[in-house]
Amino acid sequence: MTDAASVVKKMKDEEVEYLDLRFVDPKGKLQHVTVIESEIDEDFLAEGFMFDGSSVAGWKSIDKSDMKLLPDCTSVYMDPFFAEKTMCIHCDVLEPDTNEFYERDPRATAKKAEAYLKSSGIGDASYWGPEAEFFLFDNVKYAVEMNKVSYEVDAVDGAWNSDADFEMGNMGMRPLIKGGYFPLPPVDHMQDIRAEMLSTMARIGMKVDKHHHEVASCQHELGLVFGSLTEQADAILKYKYIIQQVANAYGKSATFMPKPIAGDNGTGMHVNQSIWKDGKPLFAGDKYADLSDEALWYIGGVLKHAKALNAFTNPSTNSYKRLIPGFEAPVLLAYSARNRSASIRIPWTESPKAKRVETRFPDPSANPYLAFSALLMAGLDGIKNKIDPGEAADKDLYDLPPEELAGIPTVCGSLREALNSLEDDYEFLTAGDVFTRDQIEGYAELKWEEVYAFEHCPHPIEYKMYYNL
Ligand code: GLN
Ligand code: MG
Ligand code: MG
Ligand code: MG
Repeated sequence: MTDAASVVKKMKDEEVEYLDLRFVDPKGKLQHVTVIESEIDEDFLAEGFMFDGSSVAGWKSIDKSDMKLLPDCTSVYMDPFFAEKTMCIHCDVLEPDTNEFYERDPRATAKKAEAYLKSSGIGDASYWGPEAEFFLFDNVKYAVEMNKVSYEVDAVDGAWNSDADFEMGNMGMRPLIKGGYFPLPPVDHMQDIRAEMLSTMARIGMKVDKHHHEVASCQHELGLVFGSLTEQADAILKYKYIIQQVANAYGKSATFMPKPIAGDNGTGMHVNQSIWKDGKPLFAGDKYADLSDEALWYIGGVLKHAKALNAFTNPSTNSYKRLIPGFEAPVLLAYSARNRSASIRIPWTESPKAKRVETRFPDPSANPYLAFSALLMAGLDGIKNKIDPGEAADKDLYDLPPEELAGIPTVCGSLREALNSLEDDYEFLTAGDVFTRDQIEGYAELKWEEVYAFEHCPHPIEYKMYYNL
């Protein structure tokens, strides 16, 4: 469905009661307002809906608060949960006086990034395959046991909190730490919930292909089929919504925070990327791992700007607890066709059409519109400036001797470092006005608040380390 007339017709034909207008805030959380069917006609869809932009954190001040939501008629789907029949539509945020994109609207940034790719002449389409993992918990009691460095969470299927679990009864058949990938039930305890999540996504028209238990106990992943940048950022928001809603219906909660459990794998959102031009895959070629020069330069750009990218791809204080050695998350800014300890992996494929670059440091606390756009801008900067990514690193990078490690740059170690890096390296983002300086400043301001909140708060482990000194 692509135009206002067909949206209105579908609402009438299918007796839809409400239209739910959805948009994304700077941190990547979906927001909504619900409008009754009798209000909806082609004029409404063309003119948009006024709302108070000053109430969204990181947007306008109270004296310039009026903003407009403009529905994107290509993005409709039926809400799978609401009791009253409701159609959802993703909206762009406009300035009401000029009808131009509001520069801090993340969805506008995604559309501008796609337009910038075309105008650059480098390619005419980009494809995105994000893999967002998550944890499912029964009861989020983040009570910390001071003498163990573990968090006591009542896990749905995990045995990492093993003493308590075994005392509670028949919890023997559960994945151990890093033991979730991927035995059959009953060890995999969440088959039916995951299947319900995936079927719900398919039912609303999302392109999905699989679901599985992930490596950590209580950790899971569902597969989204690749698509265009804005389409896949929209898809990640639907993905999170459906996962959290289905979990909630089972009396559980799903979290996308990057490192909920110390000592087990964290939650990544690997991002598979490729560019096409004239119907051909630009990344397939005869260089390392059957990549093209353009693909290698793209990698060069992502590695060069990685520390600034981290402010968008790993934008929580918790993100940096995941980016440590030993848990399949990357630390070193290197690329490889083989190993999963590198920041960029080239997945094995014989098909030139499937040739892609998998960036592994992002996590799903990211705003997907901003994260994908920033990655694209870094890669395009790499292609424009023919940035050499250096030699591939085909060893297990977690085990390198110190003299070899010394020369390899790393991802950021904290959100503080990422925000400082963004401050020093943002011009690749503002090329073609895809991101604006004002937008980056507003975003950074919000994220600094998180850094201060975290840094100013005594951490439970500090009691263990310092209480008795
Ligand atoms: N959970 C790992 C990460 O943090 C990825 C594991 C996997 O998908 N093989 O990136
Ligand atoms: Mg995967
Ligand atoms: Mg995974
Ligand atoms: Mg992956």
